[in-house]
Amino acid sequence: QDGPKYHGIVEDCCCDYQTVDRINEEVLNPLLQQIVKYPFFRYFKVKLWCDCPFWPDDGMCRLRDCSVCECPENEFPETFRKSSGSVLSSDDLVCQEGKPEATVDRTIDVKAFKGWMEVDNPWTNDDETDNAEMTYVNLQLNPERYTGYSGPSARRIWDAIYLENCQKLDPSGECQERRILYKLISGLHSSISVHIAAEYLLDEKTNMWGQKLSLLYDRVLKYPDRVRNLYFTFLFVLRSVTKAADYLEQADYDTGNPVEDLNTQLLMKKLLYDHKLQTACPKPFDEAKMWKGQSGPELMKQTQIQFRNISAVMDCIGCEKCRLWGKLQILGLGTALKILFSENGQDQSGQHLQLQRNEVIALVNLLNRLSESVKFVHEMGPSAERMFGKIIGGP
Ligand code: FAD
Repeated sequence: QDGPKYHGIVEDCCCDYQTVDRINEEVLNPLLQQIVKYPFFRYFKVKLWCDCPFWPDDGMCRLRDCSVCECPENEFPETFRKSSGSVLSSDDLVCQEGKPEATVDRTIDVKAFKGWMEVDNPWTNDDETDNAEMTYVNLQLNPERYTGYSGPSARRIWDAIYLENCQKLDPSGECQERRILYKLISGLHSSISVHIAAEYLLDEKTNMWGQKLSLLYDRVLKYPDRVRNLYFTFLFVLRSVTKAADYLEQADYDTGNPVEDLNTQLLMKKLLYDHKLQTACPKPFDEAKMWKGQSGPELMKQTQIQFRNISAVMDCIGCEKCRLWGKLQILGLGTALKILFSENGQDQSGQHLQLQRNEVIALVNLLNRLSESVKFVHEMGPSAERMFGKIIGGP
């Protein structure tokens, strides 16, 4: 009765659930957990001020101070702290950054960040050119976890992503490419929910954090498709990382600390060429099957536009820490798409694959987040199902 719930090959991928769990536990998760702690991967350059192009009237985004606040709550202007009955009255409009659990800690070692080249990514709405609005964030000090961001503001973002960008599905269900974009977003959504469940503020008064398995069940496990999409997204991103192995092996991991930088490079090499991984799941996803046929190139262009819209929506997230991880992970997905769909390693302008430093950071951190989520679902899923799954039957 307690046997594995998910069997067989992960849909649209090339490995089965049990193998994914095994290689994640034995190889990927331990390596990724080490890699993301090194200076190269722990600092992310990002513009956190929300320049929302879609809802200029959004109460959150009009309040610049709200968006970038790092100050303790008592330094907040009174109007931002309390409901005022005007534009700031609903839960939607309360400054999320006023909550300590949503505050972004920008403590970084500036020396650690050296620029790479600026190259375009046709899949994302890049805003990462250097200017005064960019900040550098230490990801290790800002874990993705519960922040309290919810209500209409959060709902509007997810709705915009799904309705405007993913549900323009071919009703015949034959359009594999569109389905895949939906699955990537849904998989990322599952992963975000898993992280909220894995690190939840259980008691505000005592600041006690812990797991909330009921949330894991209610938001993810209850819907088997969301679990399947999480595994799919993990394999998709894993494939992009291994496809770019030559590039990532040679990349410049210099942060000014020779010992740590060498370790980063060695660990990356282990990840890229691990024997166990290569034998158990040599090609986690087969990108060659996509964008075939006459309408292929046009479909790819449309999907690129849709994904760029999703990337632009990230600027509308009304919680700074959620915006940080939203932007990072969407950039990571955009980087995976860029790697997998550059023809013969060349982009549309015929250039060989070139990644920005920030893209590499986003890609590897995204893979780590997905790996954590898959591990959490694998380890805690059965107990959560036993405790909260009242539905008889299953998928
Ligand atoms: P939501 O998670 O908001 O889901 C909305 C609707 O989408 C659901 O009712 C369901 O119909 C559908 N849905 C849910 N999951 C899936 C799925 N996997 N696949 C397909 N459809 C699905 N909150 C935090 O506490 N910490 C964070 O770090 C954080 N990061 C965020 C990042 C982004 C980009 C966004 C948009 C929101 C983030 N949030 C974060 C908010 C969080 O995702 C939820 O919106 C919030 O917790 C409220 O949850 P909910 O139960 O209303 O459902």
